Amino acid sequence: MAALATSEESAEREECANEEDNVPTYECVDKNTKAFHVGAFGGLWRERLVPAFYCYQDPEEDAENARLARDLGVSEETVEELRVICSPDSLTRGAAQTDVVPQDSCLQTVRLSKRRQDYRASLRRDFPTRQDTFASELEGLAIGRRPLDPEFLVPEGEIILTVNVLYPVIFEAFKFSRQHMSLQVMGTQKLSELRDAICCVSDLQVHGEFSSTPDMAPEFISKDLYKSAFFFFEGVFYDDMRYPECNPISKTTIEWAKSHDFPTFRSAKMEETTFNDLVVKIGYPYLYCHQGDCEHIVIITDIRMVHRDDCLDKNLYPLLTYKHRITTRKCSVCNVYISRWLTTKDQLAPSDPCLFCDVCFRTLHYDKQGNKLGDFLAYPYVDPGAFN
Ligand SMILES: [Zn+2]
Ligand SMILES: [Zn+2]
Repeated sequence: MAALATSEESAEREECANEEDNVPTYECVDKNTKAFHVGAFGGLWRERLVPAFYCYQDPEEDAENARLARDLGVSEETVEELRVICSPDSLTRGAAQTDVVPQDSCLQTVRLSKRRQDYRASLRRDFPTRQDTFASELEGLAIGRRPLDPEFLVPEGEIILTVNVLYPVIFEAFKFSRQHMSLQVMGTQKLSELRDAICCVSDLQVHGEFSSTPDMAPEFISKDLYKSAFFFFEGVFYDDMRYPECNPISKTTIEWAKSHDFPTFRSAKMEETTFNDLVVKIGYPYLYCHQGDCEHIVIITDIRMVHRDDCLDKNLYPLLTYKHRITTRKCSVCNVYISRWLTTKDQLAPSDPCLFCDVCFRTLHYDKQGNKLGDFLAYPYVDPGAFN
């Protein structure tokens, strides 16, 4: 919440009442801010800060280059070239690695040093966990990344919002776990772009019972069938209306609220609203709802300006910065493969419901001709951990 400190400072400076409305001060200390307009706040930042503070060029490096060029009597381009050629990186590149001690040396000191090195290596037990590897891979992909085509460079002074999306409320087991995923979005991006970036297992379900015809299980998933969804921020429902099949599913709630003397809610289109258009509170829980009743809490945890060390490739936003990993549920027969089928009322299964991988499911429940053996109901199953 580094941004909040800055915003509080600017709030102190800010005497004008109208502008003050767009500076996020705390409503609940250390929890959430008052509601403010994202775009207007970004505008205030750009107005108050000198461009040198947020431009991608490093002013100190530029000044030093100019000074060196003057002292050496060469052009700044030459200085830049010299900087690359004489950098410690290029001096060490390709040189022999000093920490590798040769195996068969006749020198006593080298042999002792080798023995010492082997002993140290035997003590080390710092195996990174899969989570750590994944997190550092995610980070490595994005940090300081610039697009090849300058057209896709994130504009200087762009607003970056950090959004935490929690597990759906229907997942009882994950009620107290950390956020499902964290994403960074640009202020100029549409809400629908965030919607597309949220990966939820409810979107991937295949509906129907296929015990008699397991080969007929359709390929299409819920996301292709039920495209309606909405975000809810500060009394406004933002419906996804991009496709003809979409329904404004917030309508029922709005009408219900109207008939029960609740404050009136408005609705708008997700695909026509950018984050800059929103009025939000930082740190406050909002809602993302899709597939009818899959409800996720969405929290905007930070707002800041883009920095030269950020990922500067527009195409990579919304940028995934964290994703919680779930243990996959293995087949109850082989315990090796991830489950693909769920059966109920199954005479052959040890439990009800029971999970099977595709191979075990077919081997156990069908004869060589593909005829169904015994009574059971079978549903295609998508494991939440399969998309780690
Ligand atoms: Zn969901
Ligand atoms: Zn199996």
